[in-house]
Amino acid sequence: MAYVITDPCIDVKDGDCTVACPVDCIYEGGRMFYIHPGECINCGLCLSVCPVDAISWDEEIPQDRVQFKAVNQDFFGPEVTNWGSPGGWDKNYTTNRDHPLVAAYERA
Ligand code: SF4
Ligand code: SF4
Repeated sequence: MAYVITDPCIDVKDGDCTVACPVDCIYEGGRMFYIHPGECINCGLCLSVCPVDAISWDEEIPQDRVQFKAVNQDFFGPEVTNWGSPGGWDKNYTTNRDHPLVAAYERA
């Protein structure tokens, strides 16, 4: 179980959730932020601060955003960053890359 960032974050990316997260498990990509599913402690603090309602608990994620569970998870795998489990964000774990589904999103 983990919280998941979904498409309203794309190109908004204000970073408010990263300030709220007590374990620094929210990482910056090119067009959105991503939550590490193995490092998230399910506290829900990020959910309450997101101005665009982009964050969902994975067990309650709306059906039309369910693909973002894999988007957040795969961001850390070989398909995108290959970071594995960094154990918390620091400046070495920031990138301008995105999951392919996010990179392909039409710009508003
Ligand atoms: S639910 Fe808590 S631990 Fe998980 S990403 Fe949000 S603030 Fe961080
Ligand atoms: S608070 Fe919401 S919009 Fe801002 S970076 Fe986090 S998920 Fe994206």
